Amino acid sequence: MPRPMITAMLLASTATMAAAHSESPIDQLSHFFESANVISGPEIVDCTLSEGAQTTCFSITVSTTVAPKNSTPGPWRPTNISDGPEAGGIWLQDGEVYDVDGAFISKLAEFYGDAEWQLFDPETGEIQYTGTLEACEAAARPDVDPAYQNHCVQCQIAYVADGSAITYVIPLDPVASERPTQTNQTGSGVAFNGVRLDGPAPVNAILGAYTIAPFDDCGGHVNTHVGYHYHAVTDCLDGAADADSGDGHGGQIGIAMDGYPILPHTDASGAAFTDLDSCNGHKDETGAYHYHAGAAGSNQILGCLSAQAGCVLEGHGNTCDASARPPRP
Ligand SMILES: [Zn+2]
Ligand SMILES: [Zn+2]
Repeated sequence: MPRPMITAMLLASTATMAAAHSESPIDQLSHFFESANVISGPEIVDCTLSEGAQTTCFSITVSTTVAPKNSTPGPWRPTNISDGPEAGGIWLQDGEVYDVDGAFISKLAEFYGDAEWQLFDPETGEIQYTGTLEACEAAARPDVDPAYQNHCVQCQIAYVADGSAITYVIPLDPVASERPTQTNQTGSGVAFNGVRLDGPAPVNAILGAYTIAPFDDCGGHVNTHVGYHYHAVTDCLDGAADADSGDGHGGQIGIAMDGYPILPHTDASGAAFTDLDSCNGHKDETGAYHYHAGAAGSNQILGCLSAQAGCVLEGHGNTCDASARPPRP
């Protein structure tokens, strides 16, 4: 299906943008999320942001039981250590992107300097993985079931309960915050295809249990709470966003939880921006603030949010009081 037209218009926050164009903010957002699996919305709702600001948000509810329309999730892990890179996805370590191919799995003990790593059967080369809903949940929880040590953690979209959904409640106009908000509590935002742009994956906890939870080549994997979600922005999103914003910036790939636009990591010539603040943001020539997604290997789509965050809700409700939310463990 054709990509949604996403242009530099959305560089302005949604409300400012609507004032300058004939489309309402809701029309603009509907357009932006054209390729998302939308269940309801976008609609305008009242909301309370992370530092208590009461303002106007948009709310959109997206199904987590189906694949995104613009890509097919997976594969995540190879079946055998003899498999090539097409059989698996990627892993992120120290800023680098590694292909999760058979050779990568077979050399984990060397890679991490720890002989406990043994994800495959030394006789057959078969790679151990979580092949059921029960195994996926037992291995994906923070205190990994010891039975799943030395497994590839791989959950399928089919494991997500029927009818599951996720609702994003995001300010139409960003509201200043006293200090940056860490995205491991809020998530980074939502991509134009409705998929969650998550905060950093808890890599240390994953590795501590001698597990690897690979991302597919699009930087995504599945958990049963939020479904398929991204921990890295790769060319699946970069390449799908409208590249012709007219100012060398590339098209908008998502909206951050504070309402600011998220653009690709690099400019149209492939160069990274050098004037970004600690949250990967800066202003364009017109003074409009926006973010650039972190490099794919960084495990930080956004490390922090510059303004107050809205809510990500598991399910269909759209009541957002982000100031009341307990910090995510
Ligand atoms: Zn994840
Ligand atoms: Zn920029």
